[in-house]
Amino acid sequence: MRLSPLARISMGLVSLTAFLLLIADLAFHVFPDDVEIARQVRKRVSESAAIQLTSLVQKGDFETIQRTMDGVAARENEILSLAVRRSDGQLVAQTGEHAQHWVPPSGGNSTLTHVLVPVFSGKDQWGQIEISYRPATPRSILGWLKHPLAIIMYFVVIGGFLAYYWYMRRVLEHLDPTAVIPDRVRTALDTLSEGVIILDPQGRIVLANSRFRALVPKSEKTLLARRASDLPWLRGALPEGTEPPWHHALEHGEAVHDAMLTIPQDGDEPRRARVHASPILDGQGTARGCLVTFTDETDLERANANLAAANAELEALNQQVARQNEELKQLAAIDPLTGCMNRRSFFEAAGPLFVQTQEAGGELCVLMCDIDKFKSINDTHGHGVGDLVIQQLARILKAALRPSDLLCRYGGEEFCIVLPDVNMLQAYVIAERIRFKVEAQAGPGVRSVPGLRVTSSFGLSSIGLGAPDLKALIEQADEALYHSKQTGRNKVTRFDDMMIEKAGTGADAQAATVVLNTAAGG
Ligand code: GH3
Ligand code: MG
Ligand code: MG
Repeated sequence: MRLSPLARISMGLVSLTAFLLLIADLAFHVFPDDVEIARQVRKRVSESAAIQLTSLVQKGDFETIQRTMDGVAARENEILSLAVRRSDGQLVAQTGEHAQHWVPPSGGNSTLTHVLVPVFSGKDQWGQIEISYRPATPRSILGWLKHPLAIIMYFVVIGGFLAYYWYMRRVLEHLDPTAVIPDRVRTALDTLSEGVIILDPQGRIVLANSRFRALVPKSEKTLLARRASDLPWLRGALPEGTEPPWHHALEHGEAVHDAMLTIPQDGDEPRRARVHASPILDGQGTARGCLVTFTDETDLERANANLAAANAELEALNQQVARQNEELKQLAAIDPLTGCMNRRSFFEAAGPLFVQTQEAGGELCVLMCDIDKFKSINDTHGHGVGDLVIQQLARILKAALRPSDLLCRYGGEEFCIVLPDVNMLQAYVIAERIRFKVEAQAGPGVRSVPGLRVTSSFGLSSIGLGAPDLKALIEQADEALYHSKQTGRNKVTRFDDMMIEKAGTGADAQAATVVLNTAAGG
């Protein structure tokens, strides 16, 4: 069992009191001295007994001597035994168990317990009177326990303890403001998940619940009855230069919310707490105290930071996936040998463009291009050289086109080009220029085969010639290309010219008329 501080203080005070009493007795003999009193009393008793007995001895009245001795022994409680002895050692009279109690004092001098009085007959010693007394001080523990001094000490110790305890409790209650909080209120506040302190009007802590104490650095020993603003760790936990929220609440009677504290911890990560200070107002609106709550948000903040980090990571991952998707899309849209659009991506782009142009009544031409006698290049120089020739052609086409033009590797060595906002005449000029460049550069571009000659044939058609959709327009250009191949290769054939020519030979007069009418109308 642990003693309360109050009980320990009371015991200390009692010990001090007993000690002072003993010192006072040593110095001033405050308590009566047993031995001295006994000496006085025994001296008196012995003297009066000796006087009576001596006179009786001298008269030789031994009968009266025995009666007198019995009377003295019965009257004086201190006397154990009494005897009259002649000088020759013979006992003349005795009372009590004298043989048992009597111990002759050494040197014939009386002691406190054994008194010896000589009896004279004339000049000679006739004999002696012997008196045995009880011991003047207790002989057993029990005897000491019953001793008056011990009884005084019992009284001082027990009575003093009770009196001091009661008195100190009253004093401490008076001095300790925390004592005004009933225990059940403390217990109730300890169950809260928030740290709570209650301050008196002077800003002193009158209660701190267990959750608050958990926030306090371990080095801080006492909280109660201290001014909250005097706790250095609590002051330091506030942002630089800010007034403690409870000051404002106590001074102005207004609640302060959401102040953030960073409470240092010995050797540990500091804890973050959100603070609310609410004044406790009396009927007149004066603050009689302040309730300050501390919500530990360390874990929440850490979780939020982790979440933010995870989100950032996810976002980065998303961007990477989007980038890779874009790359995949590009890869899926592009022909790997030439870097031109493949058929799928070409139709995705050119289809809507055709419809838009058609609806807007704008210009758009399709140019088909096919390498002449490519099979023989493959056959003569190998498939690898054939690939290089295709790449050279693609390079020349790309260099000759605008960014808005669409270039597609349409088949093995066949390319399809869409030229937006370009009429037939302009497209024909472009096609001729390309044809010339191919003839001049494509063969020499293949360094591994000196003197290689590469030419291309072209077929050209315009949206203005009435094709109902993109596919039809490409077919027209393809027909024109076929015509180029038929009529000697390394040339550009316009679909309209071809139709007129065919009409001239009567091959497809009706179709040519339709085309030319449409072209004229557009
Ligand atoms: P023409 O002047 O009539 O066009 O004669 P051509 O020999 O070019 O005839 P065609 O266009 O029909 O021949 C195409 C040949 O191109 C067939 C095929 O062996 C070859 N070829 C198709 N794709 C590739 C390719 O990617 N690389 C190579 N090296 N050859 C290809
Ligand atoms: Mg060919
Ligand atoms: Mg071909």
